[in-house]
Amino acid sequence: MSAVAYLSLERQKRAIYYFLTSLLLFCPLVGQAKINVVATLPDLGSLASEIGKDKIDLVVLGKPKDDPHFVEARQDFVSSLHNADVLIDAGAGLEMSWLPPLLQKAKNPKLDAGKPGRVQASQGIRLLNIPTGLPRGSGEVHPNGNPHFMLDPVIAKAVARRIASSLMAVDPPNAAFYDANRKNFEATIDAKLQWWRGALQLFHDQHVAAYHDSWPYFAQRFGLKIDTFLEPSPGTPPSPSHLTEVIQRMKKNRIKLILVEPYQDRRVAEKVARASDASVIDSTQFPGGIPGTDNYVSLINQLVKQLAEGMK
Ligand SMILES: [Zn+2]
Repeated sequence: MSAVAYLSLERQKRAIYYFLTSLLLFCPLVGQAKINVVATLPDLGSLASEIGKDKIDLVVLGKPKDDPHFVEARQDFVSSLHNADVLIDAGAGLEMSWLPPLLQKAKNPKLDAGKPGRVQASQGIRLLNIPTGLPRGSGEVHPNGNPHFMLDPVIAKAVARRIASSLMAVDPPNAAFYDANRKNFEATIDAKLQWWRGALQLFHDQHVAAYHDSWPYFAQRFGLKIDTFLEPSPGTPPSPSHLTEVIQRMKKNRIKLILVEPYQDRRVAEKVARASDASVIDSTQFPGGIPGTDNYVSLINQLVKQLAEGMK
């Protein structure tokens, strides 16, 4: 073999080697392109993660200890929304003060209402406490009815179905995977529901107080009356005259617990608790808001346990 022929053979071998190496490097990425999912809040994020698992790249905008009505918008929210294939929001006015301006800047038509990439969780859900009279003040944060429906695990199953349908439409090759995960999630909730109901059955119709009206769906599901609030109306800060009324009502209804979430003023609740011989419970509507609540199911579990222990 001549020197020239040998060199050219070597070059061919090297070319083949580089070709095969690059195939090995890039081929595993083919078929693994994940879809970008944005959830506005951690409860919706937990459901998305249960259904999408490792097939989605998930960004959750609000943090577990944030006030969902007033999440502080960051610049990176806009780019996450711009790149998203799917957006899951609660709707019903929960994110009305912060999500619309971000969506306007993100300019992503895939997330328009009615598109497969948009899951507005509140659609099809019968909202409780829809205001009937005149607006209750400029600070009103529940103008369309109560938007904290995710605290009812039966409603969460319906939302999970909507999330699964969206992921199946946007990413058809993984449709069976999403559907199987959705079924597993529903089965987990169904299995837990009996235990949750049983744990709270003893306390049927008992009254509980809360800082904000985050609890009507949870209360309805489990037969409690969480109907005394430190806020005079949702979003209005407690006034001394209102708190005097609250203390009277707490004594009259023998209320022993006040639920306070991480972003609410615990000192106000402590004052009311002292005056009415009640206790303050550090609670949350979001996975991660208090210890022992890493996902949606453990959140409901923890809330049920807290209330059952507190009312004993
Ligand atoms: Zn609210």
